[in-house]
This record gives sequence, structure tokens and C-alpha cells, in this order.
Amino acid sequence: IENRCFYFDEIHSTNTFMLEHASELKSGDVCVAEFQSAGRGRRGRKWLSPYGHHIYASLFWRLNKDISHASGLSLVVGCSIVKTLQDLGVEGLGVKWPNDIYLDHKKLAGILIELRQHSDVKTELIIGFGINMSMSVEQGDLIDQPWSDLSVMANMPDKTDLLIKLHQQIKRDLVMFEQHGLELFLDRWNQNDLFINREITLLMAPNSVTGTCRGIDKNGAILLENEQGVAAFVGGEISLRAT
Ligand code: ATP
Repeated sequence: IENRCFYFDEIHSTNTFMLEHASELKSGDVCVAEFQSAGRGRRGRKWLSPYGHHIYASLFWRLNKDISHASGLSLVVGCSIVKTLQDLGVEGLGVKWPNDIYLDHKKLAGILIELRQHSDVKTELIIGFGINMSMSVEQGDLIDQPWSDLSVMANMPDKTDLLIKLHQQIKRDLVMFEQHGLELFLDRWNQNDLFINREITLLMAPNSVTGTCRGIDKNGAILLENEQGVAAFVGGEISLRAT
């Protein structure tokens, strides 16, 4: 199937654009922008999206599964982005559950997946991702946590090439996920997980729970071990912090 790319110099949010046009879209269609005036993260947070050849993109996908299977999707897409960058020779990448990609322990990229049940057996997904390519210090000063970008690469990839590679890898992985579920991705995720076997705290306002991170399970839940045993946690309201 031919896919379409909706390209904008400037837009509010590529995810919002795709949400507004979901009924007209085909799986694999993408929206790409040079600048987002209202780039979004999880739970109303902002994704800083200045000009400067950074990647702001959203991919539409009609998943052949009901919404209950969607909890592990940000992990699949995290694996896709890491694999694409590793194939280009980027070293020092890591993932943080459930939706962040780090380079040298600083935040390089974020994933924002928005979804809705389409029918009994289908779920519409908007998979948004932002990747910092070469952030100036002035731009980066506006980010309230340590950040990184791809300018450390010896050969910085062309942005269009990178987008095409990401598009291909994410589509391939989504098809694998539809056919085989998350189990196929567990090793890939755990190999890149920055917090595996480390002490972490899961913030679930107003509560929090501390323990040793034991990776993820086949539903995309994070496994935490403490005196009470191993427990699985999943849900969009949880944030992971190093303890
Ligand atoms: P956290 O990453 O703090 O655990 P989260 O996963 O909920 O929380 P996201 O919604 O994925 O966070 O991303 C939003 C956060 O990412 C912002 O609050 C900000 O701290 C950070 N951020 C925003 N823009 C950028 C950027 N361009 N590069 C790196 N980090 C950014």
C-alpha cells in the first residue's frame, strides 16, 4: 500500500493533526513537521520542538487487535527507534520504561501513543515521536531535565533518510507485534533497559513504590521486586525514577 506523508513547516502538534484526520488515514501514513508550537508529552507535559532539523513525526496505524493489547506498544516503538539508530552506528542508547529513549543517560527522544477503539477487533493508533538531532544550548536550556541529541554522531544521518528508516522499522515491528505479541520484543527491550536490576521508584501520585527493576512482562508491565515479592505495574499514570 502506498503511504502518504503530510509535511508541515509549522504545526501545533503532529499527533493532534493525525487525531483530527484519523478517519481518512491508512496504516503507515505519517505527519512530519519542522516545528511544533504545542508539541505534547504524556499527561499534559510539553515536548520542546524548536526549528533545527529535529524530528517531530506521527504515524497512523489501524491495529488488528482490541485496545486491551495496546499496553506494550510504546515499548515496541522504543525498540524500533533504538534499532534504527543502532543500525546507523549510534552507541550509548538506552530505554526507560515506558516511553523514553536516552543517549549517554540523557533524554534523546520521546514517544507519545494515543489510541482509540475502532471496532471490536481494531484499534486506531497515533504513534508520535520526537528525536533531538542537533539542539543548540539556548534551545536545550528550556528543557527541564538532562537532554542529548544526535550531534555526537560521526556521520550525522540525513533527516529524510532517518525518517524513511524509522518509518520502515516501525511498520515492520508493528506487523510483528500484531502477529506475535510483545513477547518477541522482551529481549530487545531488556537488553537496552537502563534500569534493569537497579533500584527504582515508581511514582503513581499520590503513592510511590520502590524496589529492584526486573524488566518487563509480556503485557508491557514493569516488574518490580521488593520484600513483598515481584509485582507488575502498568498504566499511563506511572513515572519511573532512579532511587
Ligand atoms: P519523564 O520523562 O520525566 O519520566 P514522562 O515520560 O511522562 O516523564 P514525557 O511525556 O515522555 O515524560 O516527555 C515530556 C518531558 O520530556 C518534559 O516534561 C521534559 O522534561 C522533557 N522534554 C521536553 N522536550 C524535550 C526534548 N526536546 N528533548 C528531551 N526532553 C524533552
